[in-house]
Amino acid sequence: MKNLLKRRIKLLCIAGGLVSLTVVSCSKDDVESNDDTNVNVSSYEKVDPNNPVVKILVSRGWNINKIQKLSNGDFSVGDISFSGNIKDYNVKKQAREELVNDYRNISVFVHSSITQEDNTNTDAPNEDNWTDATKNAITIWNSVPDSGLRFTEALNIEDADILIFSDFGLLADGTLGQGRFPSDGNAGRTILINLDYNNNESLDYDIRFDTMVHELGHNIGYRHTDWQGQGEGNDTLVNIPGTPTGDNPDPDSVMNAFVDAEFNGLSFYDKVALKFMYPN
Ligand SMILES: [Zn+2]
Repeated sequence: MKNLLKRRIKLLCIAGGLVSLTVVSCSKDDVESNDDTNVNVSSYEKVDPNNPVVKILVSRGWNINKIQKLSNGDFSVGDISFSGNIKDYNVKKQAREELVNDYRNISVFVHSSITQEDNTNTDAPNEDNWTDATKNAITIWNSVPDSGLRFTEALNIEDADILIFSDFGLLADGTLGQGRFPSDGNAGRTILINLDYNNNESLDYDIRFDTMVHELGHNIGYRHTDWQGQGEGNDTLVNIPGTPTGDNPDPDSVMNAFVDAEFNGLSFYDKVALKFMYPN
């Protein structure tokens, strides 16, 4: 029965495996000058291997064949986006263990574009309202014993480290969400949610919940746990100590590239990885 209930949704983000960690540094994006809403996702370009940002991404373990260039100059791998500005990559700080420096207080602003009441579909009421999914995703990440990582809800956009909002039609139809990798010690700046995902398919609460936990994971630096099976990494990747390897090493991990309709919270190894990267 369990398999029958399972649905797999490919997430569009760019963070690699929970199980594998690359150290990335870039600077906090300015929301005006580097706004993801400028992305035209229909115009991916093949990347230039000599581009300095591409070289850095490859040196940090990303498979060059999976890197795509976005029309606004940024890059992506699956459902994770990266700054395309070389100035955002402070290589002097590369030898850092944690990806977000001030991880004890990462403020999250939830834009009104994803908190709308919507009762047009009686099978899935309020399916476009991600308020509870976001609140509960924050609680999940904050409740891991021995980890000091804490998300808080920002009341004002000016105070926020992470902005979560509708993709306003910009993500591809088959992409439910897109996180952004940290840069220069700051959490990834944006999370985009595709409210019309898959021809406006109805999404159960658990899928919204799972997706938000997953995207927040990208914004604090987690790659996909199943990066090997997804072909997203290269030989330079270093595994997080205490976590398993392989094509699908932790089927329960929230950071696998697909989201399950049945969401049971962070897996044992998700918590091991969080404690390692963001200790108390
Ligand atoms: Zn992802």
